[in-house]
Amino acid sequence: MTEKLSTDPGYRLAYTVEHEHWYAKSEARILGKAPSPSIHIFKQDNNEQDAWMVLVEDISAIFGSPRIQVRVLDDMFSAFVEVAPFFEALAAEQPRDLLRVQTILDVLGFADETERQRPGARLAGHTLPAEGRIFDQGSRIREGATACSCGEPSPVLPSDNARREWHAEHKTEVRRG
Ligand SMILES: [Zn+2]
Repeated sequence: MTEKLSTDPGYRLAYTVEHEHWYAKSEARILGKAPSPSIHIFKQDNNEQDAWMVLVEDISAIFGSPRIQVRVLDDMFSAFVEVAPFFEALAAEQPRDLLRVQTILDVLGFADETERQRPGARLAGHTLPAEGRIFDQGSRIREGATACSCGEPSPVLPSDNARREWHAEHKTEVRRG
């Protein structure tokens, strides 16, 4: 049984999947190359100040086989202690892809704050938990139901994408009033 992690009052634990931000492609075009796929994991206060930040990078392109790498700056080593269960899960499972890392984060209760949609597409009070991903005892499952943060339940749906589509429609209905 996995317990969700908690953190200090006034802070939250979250992550962003960098290559899934809606602006990732245009950013890569400006830089002239796409950066390695990565997940930023952070503890942040309400003024968006990071207490620490951990970068998990997919470096398969360098190795020619699936590999990931964790980077933590020297003044942020407290992360190893504060979210020890995350690093313990990495050590136990030795995941070699970012999707599995993301699942570990979801199960531990880190908020997925990836900006997958342009700001205009968001609707306050209506967010889709884990972007439609659902879990059974710590493992991701494909088929099942979810619920909007407002409480509106979805029907049983076959995939994450189907749940995302359901949520987009739900927001459209809410906007219509
Ligand atoms: Zn809703």
